[in-house]
Amino acid sequence: MLIRRPADPCYDVVVVGARAAGAATAHLLARSGLRVLLVDRGRYGTDTLSTHALMRGGVLQLSRWGLLNKIIAAGTPPVRRATFRYADAVVPVTIKPSHGVDALYAPRRTVLDPILVDAAAAAGAEVRFGIAVADVDRDRHGAVTGVAGRTRDGQAFRARARIVVGADGIRSTIAERAGAPFERVGTSAAAVTYGYWSGLQTDGYEWNFRPDAASGVIPTNNGQACVFASASPRRISRGGLAPLTQIVTESSADLAGRLAAAVPPRALRTFTGQPGHMRRSWGPGWALAGDAGYFKDPLTAHGLTDALRDAELLARGIIAVIDGADERDALARYQMTRDALSTALFDVTGMIAGHRWTDAEIPSLLLQLNAAMAGEVQALAALPPLPPPPDRHQLFKENRDVQPARIPCA
Ligand SMILES: Cc1cc2nc3c(=O)[nH]c(=O)nc-3n(C[C@H](O)[C@H](O)[C@H](O)COP(=O)(O)OP(=O)(O)OC[C@H]3O[C@@H](n4cnc5c(N)ncnc54)[C@H](O)[C@@H]3O)c2cc1C
Repeated sequence: MLIRRPADPCYDVVVVGARAAGAATAHLLARSGLRVLLVDRGRYGTDTLSTHALMRGGVLQLSRWGLLNKIIAAGTPPVRRATFRYADAVVPVTIKPSHGVDALYAPRRTVLDPILVDAAAAAGAEVRFGIAVADVDRDRHGAVTGVAGRTRDGQAFRARARIVVGADGIRSTIAERAGAPFERVGTSAAAVTYGYWSGLQTDGYEWNFRPDAASGVIPTNNGQACVFASASPRRISRGGLAPLTQIVTESSADLAGRLAAAVPPRALRTFTGQPGHMRRSWGPGWALAGDAGYFKDPLTAHGLTDALRDAELLARGIIAVIDGADERDALARYQMTRDALSTALFDVTGMIAGHRWTDAEIPSLLLQLNAAMAGEVQALAALPPLPPPPDRHQLFKENRDVQPARIPCA
């Protein structure tokens, strides 16, 4: 255990990981008036191993937070149609306007993540890249009270906080150091290989499903389309153009033809697969958001949408804690809501990513996926806007049952 030093800088919340989950959480907390430090060991604006199709819930969140206009201004094309191909069926689905969302978007991570980080900084969060967090600090009761790590140039780094948020991805250091147990672990893992084609004819998202051969198209910035292939890790192996072309050809001859007429990427990226997990996502002084607490296979393209969803669910819980609500109640409610909105999607994603279904079974799995997504959108659309700081303080004053928060910096 590491010893806390009084001189360490102190915040209401330190968020570790400055991408979808972390930057969004920091943004919402800072704009509600909390003192927030957002750190990441990486560099601002860089890409990461991820395709980036947002589903309606994710776009809805960006729109509710006033950030969708920035995604659009960055030249991200609207997606108004999704085409599903499975067995011998081709099913085009028009994206109907609802809840103020009239199109889907798939911004590159080099577009989405900096927009979220900039929003956090503009709302007053202190943002520091190049800080690798290695451990959490604890008080004598075992509650997490801060983080410790190193800056890129090797200096020791420490910060104290009322709550530490681990938004540090699949292999979360915070989850591990806080001792967050796995509550569910998936039984299947698919691999994905993907790259960016120019000049590909497409009119929206495309998802093609054949046994052990799924593929798709995600239109994105700079006139490019992300094309991916997903299959068992054995089939994808080290990935690249050859397995991708083979899998696309098996899953959609139509896409294979258009791909042949487009300009291929010089290099592809490959994810070799990892089973999904749901971890316990809170404890004394800590909480997890995004992949750190809840990861599922990329094939259903829902990790970003859920990271943006959980950023707000967690921010609401933390704001309540800082305003004096019982920490256990508020954070347990966060995880309960997250799990209620996630379990069906986690299960069906595991089945689809297992690549063990037949042509006859995949339509029903896709219907289950659609139903799980619809419930999430309803829940997000029903959230009231987060109150700005003066209203939050007013609410606190009006609620005489609530005790003032423990201030770690005093
Ligand atoms: C191949 C692939 C394709 C995908 N496609 C899609 C898709 O189309 N649509 C979709 O919605 N989702 C997709 N996903 C899932 C999506 O990428 C994740 O759900 C999303 O990135 C989760 O965001 P996050 O902020 O939780 O974590 P991450 O994006 O992983 O960010 C974690 C951050 O934490 C930082 N960090 C880690 N450890 C430390 C530390 N010790 N100290 C400081 N900083 C640290 C990292 O540098 C990183 O910046 C895909 C995933 C993969 C692998």
